[in-house]
This record gives sequence, C-alpha cells and structure tokens, in this order.
Amino acid sequence: MNGQNGGGAGQVDVLVVGAGFSGLYLLHRLRGMGFSVQVIEKGSDVGGTWYWNRYPGARCDIESLDYSYSFDEDLQQEWSWPDRYSVQPDILRYADHVAERFDLRRDITFDTTVTAASWNEDTGRWTIDTDTGGRFVATWFIMATGCLSASRLPDIPGRDDFEGQIYHTGLWPHEPVDFTGLNVGVIGTGSSAIQAIPIIAEQAKHLTVFQRTPNFSVPAWNGPLDPEDERERKENYAEIREFSRWSSGGFYSAAKDEALIEQTDDAVQKEIERRWAEGGFYVMDVYGDIMTDARANEVVAEFVRNNIRSRVRDPEVAELLCPKAHPFGTKRLCVDTDYYETYNRDNVTLVDLKTTPIEAITVTGVRTTEADYDFDAIVYATGFDAMTGALTNVDIRGRDGVSLRDKWKAGPRTYLGLMVAGFPNLFTITGPGSPSVLSNMMTSIEQHVEWVTDCMAHVRDRQMARIEPTVAAEDRWVDHVSETAADTLYPEANSWYMGANIPGKPRVFLPYVGGVGTYRKICEDVRANDYEGFEIAR
Ligand code: FAD
Ligand code: NAP
Repeated sequence: MNGQNGGGAGQVDVLVVGAGFSGLYLLHRLRGMGFSVQVIEKGSDVGGTWYWNRYPGARCDIESLDYSYSFDEDLQQEWSWPDRYSVQPDILRYADHVAERFDLRRDITFDTTVTAASWNEDTGRWTIDTDTGGRFVATWFIMATGCLSASRLPDIPGRDDFEGQIYHTGLWPHEPVDFTGLNVGVIGTGSSAIQAIPIIAEQAKHLTVFQRTPNFSVPAWNGPLDPEDERERKENYAEIREFSRWSSGGFYSAAKDEALIEQTDDAVQKEIERRWAEGGFYVMDVYGDIMTDARANEVVAEFVRNNIRSRVRDPEVAELLCPKAHPFGTKRLCVDTDYYETYNRDNVTLVDLKTTPIEAITVTGVRTTEADYDFDAIVYATGFDAMTGALTNVDIRGRDGVSLRDKWKAGPRTYLGLMVAGFPNLFTITGPGSPSVLSNMMTSIEQHVEWVTDCMAHVRDRQMARIEPTVAAEDRWVDHVSETAADTLYPEANSWYMGANIPGKPRVFLPYVGGVGTYRKICEDVRANDYEGFEIAR
C-alpha cells in the first residue's frame, strides 16, 4: 500500500482524500493509533492550499505562530518562521518538513484524484475509485479535501477565446511567472487579488483591475518576526494554544464582549485605533456587537472607508474602492500590504464592473459594456466553489445508493459539520456546519482530526464497526447553524460563505458562526454523552 504515484488498489482501514494540513495530521495520528491508512492526493506533493496557490504575494492572514500545528511540542518549538505572516513558499516548506519529520509520504499516493465512493451496507465498507483506475476498499472514508480547493473560472462568454496567457490564482504554475513589460488584467478583488495586485503592478507595464464588489481590507503590518516576540510566545505556547482552542476565532486574540454602541465616540475611536495598530483580523474583535448590530458595524465600516480615502489619492477611485453594499466583515475580511496605495501608481487602472459589467472575454482581452481592453495576460482571482465544491465533485453514494449531491441539493446537511446521515463512517474535516473558514483553520483542523480519530478508536475499542448521525440530530444541527447565522449580519452579504459566488448554488450560510470555543464544547459534550446524536452499530 505504498503507492507514491500512479493508480494503486487495496484494502485499508482508512482512506483519506487530501494531503493538506488536514490529511497530513490525520495520517500521522491514525498511524499512531494502529490504523492502516492510505492518503490520495490530486497534486504532486503535500501542502494542499499552499501547494496550489503560488500566485505572487500569497501568504497567510493569521500570524504564523498561530497558523501552525500545535500537536507536537518539539515541532512547534523547533520551527522558526521568518515573517509574522508567512509567504506561501515558507508555509509549503513547513508542510514539506512535517511530511519528512513524520515520514508521511510513504502512505500518500500523489497525482491521483478520487472520483467516486460508495458505501456497501452488507460489508460495512467504502469502495473508492480514482481517475487512474485505482480502487480501494476501506472501513473509514475521510474527506480532507479542503474548503477552498475547488477553484473556479467564471462562465464568461468567450472565456476560451483569449489567446494570451491565462492564470487562476488557485492553480498557479510552479515556475515563476514574470509579468515584466506586459499588459495584465486581474478579474476579482477578493483576498487573493488583494495580495497579488501590488506585486503584479510592480512588474507589469500596465495593470487593469476589474472590480465587481469592493472588499474591506485592513493592513497586516507584516514584517520579519520579532525574535523577542517569538521567544516569549514559545515560552508560553501551551497556554497560548489552549487559549486559542477556546477562543472565538481560534487564534490568540482577546475578543471584547462589550457593546460598541454603549461606549462614547472618543473611547470607540481609541479602541478601534488600538486594534487597528495590531493589524489584520484583530480589529474584528474590537467589540462584541459589530457582527450583530448594524449601527456598531457601520462605525467600524466607516473607519475602514476613511482609511481607504486617506490611502488613495484620486477621490473618485477611493470611493469606488469603498465597500458600501455589505456590512464590515460579512464577506471574508482581506488583509493587505500596500493594496490601496497600488491605485496611486500611474500604471494601474480600476474598472468598476457595477457600472460597466464584463460582456465577454475576447481574443485579445476583456470587453465591458463601455470599452475593449487588450491584454498579454489575464489573471482570474475569482475564488472557489467553497466548502461544498470539493465534496460534491466526488460522486459519493451512501446507503441505498443515495448521492451526496442529491442530498445536498438545497444546501449541505451535516451533524456538527463532521458526518452526514445515511453516509456511515464518512467524515468531513472542517465540513459545512463547522466553524472552519471563520477561524484560524489550523485550530479547527486539529480539533476535527482529534475528535474524528478519537471517535474511530472509540468505535473500534467497543468492538463496533460503524457510526453515523441520526436524521433528527442532523436536522437539529442544520437548524441551529442557520439560526445562529440569522442572528448576525453575515447573511446580508453576497459572499461565498452564503454560496452566493456560484450561480445556482443554494443560498445557505455554510460555516457555523457560534465560535471555535463554543463549538469545541458542543463536540466534547457530544462525546461525553456517549456520542449523543450518533448511532454506533456492529
Ligand atoms: P487543503 O489545503 O485545501 O487540502 C486539500 C487537498 O485535497 C488538496 O491538496 C487537494 O488537491 C486535495 N483534493 C481535493 N479533492 C480531491 C480529490 N477528489 N482527490 C484527490 N485529492 C483531492 N486559512 C487560515 O486559517 N489562515 C490563512 O491565512 C489562510 N490563508 C489562505 C490563503 C489562500 C490563498 C487560500 C486559498 C486559503 C487560505 N486559508 C487560510 C484556508 C486554507 O485552505 C486552510 O488554512 C488549510 O490550508 C486547509 O487545509 P486542508 O488540508 O483542510 O485543505
Ligand atoms: P473570493 O474571495 O471569492 O474573491 C473572488 C473575487 O472575484 C471577488 O472579488 C468576486 O467578485 C470576483 N468575481 C468572481 N466571479 C466574477 C465574475 N464573473 N466577474 C467579475 N468578478 C468576479 O476568492 P479569493 O480571493 O481567492 O479568496 C477566497 C478565500 O480564500 C478568501 O476569502 C480567504 O478565506 C482565502 N484566502 C486567504 C488569503 C489570505 O490572506 N491568507 C488569501 C487568499 C485567499 P464578487 O465579490 O462580486 O463576487
């Protein structure tokens, strides 16, 4: 079962799909518990997100001392991050180090895509098929396929007619791309675009950015990691990680419970400035009501808009870059280095697609309702079929041949984002209905991997063979996830959290917004109550 490349076939205890941070930790932990494991990965190496997203400027927006594994004390003490927020090559180097350190590659089959999986009720096993003709039989089937791994090119008329270079940020080539002297168009202004645009602008002869919706972006204040900061954090790592596990966002930030609207204007201004000076996501924790009270939210939103106005010289361009149609934070907050300043360059143009939509991609570039733009290269920073895409891309069939795609037609249904009724022994790491993308994913990945593997060991130790949620538990959880979201401002935005970026995708709030700590407590209570809501059978 040591397929490194190619098809492969056989029988294992556990088949894991994906060799990102979820799949790597699963493999390490399951091996330690005595399970035989095979991991199947579409890419040619480990790293997941950080293997695929090699666009210029790609880096994490959670501090690296937080965005890293906590499960191994030696690993977290020995590894050193050069920057406060690491660049993609450094994160990939870390994934490679983890794979080497724990000798993981020998149980990973690369360059292979899982295409289908079906549950056999009689044998109590999953049969899993790959695009290279491989077939595996496994008792446990774990989709560690990532929430942001199904990259998406929009269906714009004429998309395939363009004769220049075409890139998608999430499928970036491995060799460096040099835009020097080229006319480049970037479509999209989400997190990926906001990181790539400043760097492409430095190289390109001219850069044209096509913006459909302006996003809120806050400065990262990135820089080399302060050695004193690193020493102090590492000395207190155990405590810091434990704090993060029970926090709201899964990282080391003290969220304020107090309501903004109950403070004086002066106090609010000072507090926002204080959090702003910390950089990045810390501003989301400034007060307890900014994601639930539109008045509080607007105060922070206007603070960010004023920052944009102060950074962009042309007032008309600045106004176009100011988000006004959705509350602050309801689309994923972007974290930038010099994004807005890029629009002060002579070689950068912003095209507002709200007033002049794209009509077509042409042989030479992009046609809007107002003009034709000619390019040597077009960069699609158009995002992903988030949270469900990588799961429904595989033809997964549970009991009685019921397909996951059909079951999720009106939106994903899971219990705890971990399992699906009718699909025994199938786990979804950071699946829809769990905090996942609303958190530091490393914290959520570790929590899911540990819960799932403990659950499997529990079933095995009781001489049982299968586990699945009841329909009633799943229904209650789906209702709870949507009710929790409805109490916030999140559903007001046309975000990928709501499935709104994919035409025809049901409008359902996909992650669980209750917070990482609250969710962890729920999962621990379920376990303590003998896996309440699940049926365990022989
Ligand atoms: P992934 O890393 O997505 O790995 C899943 C793997 O499964 C992929 O390698 C994919 O090839 C493979 N796969 C999928 N389907 C199949 C199939 N059918 N057959 C075989 N293989 C398959 N999160 C944060 O918390 N902080 C950040 O700063 C941050 N930055 C990000 C930046 C970018 C550009 C993106 C896109 C995401 C970012 N994220 C961030 C989210 C990020 O996805 C997670 O942090 C984390 O890396 C996910 O790990 P994973 O192993 O669960 O999934
Ligand atoms: P995204 O947030 O979904 O942004 C996609 C962009 O493309 C949006 O501006 C969208 O506009 C635009 N777009 C999509 N289809 C379009 C079309 N047909 N015509 C014109 N514009 C179109 O995708 P992303 O930027 O790749 O980021 C996805 C997620 O990955 C992030 O939210 C984040 O969680 C993660 N990420 C993190 C980092 C980081 O800083 N660490 C970096 C990159 C990604 P609309 O808004 O109008 O739909």
